[in-house]
Amino acid sequence: MAATPKHEYYETLGVPRTADAEEIRKVYRKLARKYHPDLNPGDKSAEERFRNVQEAYDVLSDSKKRQMYDQFGFYSENGFAGPPPGSQGGQPGQQFDFSGFDFSDFASGAQGAGGGGRRATETGGGFRDIFSQFFGRGQGRQEEPEKGADLEYVMNIDFWQAIRGTQTRVNITRYETCGTCHGTGSSGAGEVSCPQCKGTGHVSQMAGAMRFNLTCPKCGGSGKLRNACPTCGGDGRVSHTEQVEIRIPPGARDGSRLRVPGKGNAGTHGAQPGDLYITTKVEPHAFFHRDGDNIEIKVPVTVWEAALGAKIEVPTIDGRTLLKIPQGTTNGQKFRLREKGVANSRTSVRGDQIVEVSLSAPDPRDERTRKLLAEMAEINKGEDPRAEMWAKV
Ligand SMILES: [Zn+2]
Ligand SMILES: [Zn+2]
Repeated sequence: MAATPKHEYYETLGVPRTADAEEIRKVYRKLARKYHPDLNPGDKSAEERFRNVQEAYDVLSDSKKRQMYDQFGFYSENGFAGPPPGSQGGQPGQQFDFSGFDFSDFASGAQGAGGGGRRATETGGGFRDIFSQFFGRGQGRQEEPEKGADLEYVMNIDFWQAIRGTQTRVNITRYETCGTCHGTGSSGAGEVSCPQCKGTGHVSQMAGAMRFNLTCPKCGGSGKLRNACPTCGGDGRVSHTEQVEIRIPPGARDGSRLRVPGKGNAGTHGAQPGDLYITTKVEPHAFFHRDGDNIEIKVPVTVWEAALGAKIEVPTIDGRTLLKIPQGTTNGQKFRLREKGVANSRTSVRGDQIVEVSLSAPDPRDERTRKLLAEMAEINKGEDPRAEMWAKV
């Protein structure tokens, strides 16, 4: 059995287990403001804290999820190793033994069809179905309209795509408003056979190599639905995969989060859809390093270029450019090439390129060079480069 990820939601929010909904909401707002990525650009630990706070709030703010978390010490819709053996729960007559296998295969079924390293976290997938059974929820239909869940995709782009922007299509599997009933879930046709179980009253569900036989969550085992739309079974929405055009603006950073409004899951019974969020993951470049809108690069410089001063060619994201280094340049010295960095995705103002000099020592391979270097050593022999050091030890 794979390890269950440890989630310390109360500790994350810093509230007692007895905290009420209002207290949790207050604390969440405070922490979310404090750790919001927009206020902590480039701060990975703040980003991590922000995610943890979000996750904790997601569970503790929902009474059903919180109940499950309090009871079992975890809550997850997308992938975990199952409740600890011996957990109590479920309905009479329904036995669940989650131990002995993990759900990773099952969870991976929710991955987007986009490929190329894009991953989707589809909330509202198979786990919810299992756990709505587990909790005795879903007996009969849920009539209340509920806003659609947001969808999260991670998109890998390379260094140049991030700088220049890119346009691509991603296959997104999402719930869409049912075309037959236009989201009402109702057919007006009286009793129909339940589409989810095809009238049998039970459904089977795969989890890894295991098959569960469950009471149909849609009709509660009766095999019939009153007045329900035959296409969507009364949910008002159907799952489908569609291509969504994603435009990554020039200057996108690693971890930029792009919102595509209304492209999350449709709400049930005509409620508002959720949004689609695309998080960009930018692959690093061999020489150019990004620091926000600045580009940093280390450039090798010979001793004589550094000593005498020189005009050297350095690579920039626009191609070659000339950099003048003054006489007596030292190793590690940095030079700024103004507006040779990345155009900001919002303001289009370009950052700078910072060139760091990396002195390479000469490797004399011919007699004349060796002689000249020896001569230089002779001329400068009174100079001890470690003098300052000796003065301090
Ligand atoms: Zn329908
Ligand atoms: Zn059914």
